[in-house]
Amino acid sequence: MASVLLVEDEQAIREMVAMALERAGFRVRHAESAEDAQAAIQLSQPDLILLDWMLPGQSGIDYARRLKRDRATRELPIIMLTARGEEGDRIRGLDAGADDYVPKPFSPRELVSRVKAVLRRVQPTTGEAAIEIRGLRLDPVSHRVLAGDDPVAMGPTEFRLLHFFMTHTERVFNRTQLLDNVWGANVYVEERTVDVHVRRLRKALAPTGHDELVQTIRGAGYRFAGQ
Ligand code: CA
Repeated sequence: MASVLLVEDEQAIREMVAMALERAGFRVRHAESAEDAQAAIQLSQPDLILLDWMLPGQSGIDYARRLKRDRATRELPIIMLTARGEEGDRIRGLDAGADDYVPKPFSPRELVSRVKAVLRRVQPTTGEAAIEIRGLRLDPVSHRVLAGDDPVAMGPTEFRLLHFFMTHTERVFNRTQLLDNVWGANVYVEERTVDVHVRRLRKALAPTGHDELVQTIRGAGYRFAGQ
């Protein structure tokens, strides 16, 4: 049973979301602020965080950045909840490290399906062999990436994206194809989201020069160099 930490200061929304998630079989813990959430995470780490943008004290977006900076919580998936619907805000949320973004008002059912989609995306596929390309090694079972002997830290979406690229080298994929294959065909995500995650993946791979394997094909999409 997956556990979700819900960080939301509005009681009505908290209750509605908690009820929907519990009905769907999740264990739910609550926090009303970033400070509460941090204490809850130190007690035990959830499988996913639903994080409201507007919180008393530290904002949700600043807290998301902090979680992604901290080695212990870097891989924890985050879905941002927010009343802000501007595209610029969505991109800011994703840039801060969120894996998905759900604008308010949302239906509880939609939220539950987004939670499931993100968890599906981050769960390692078992029984698969590690893949190695030009000194970059990805192990789908342990969920680790090594460049030479050095571990490469990255978020769960970047991991899935890299996994897809490394198992489909030398082919150009446009954003829609990447969304379908990495995010899932029934998930509503904007195409620009792909660019955000490709940028993050390149940043993670840059210290060892492996970012060059992720190539932009102008007007067509992205390709991962396999040779
Ligand atoms: Ca709020």
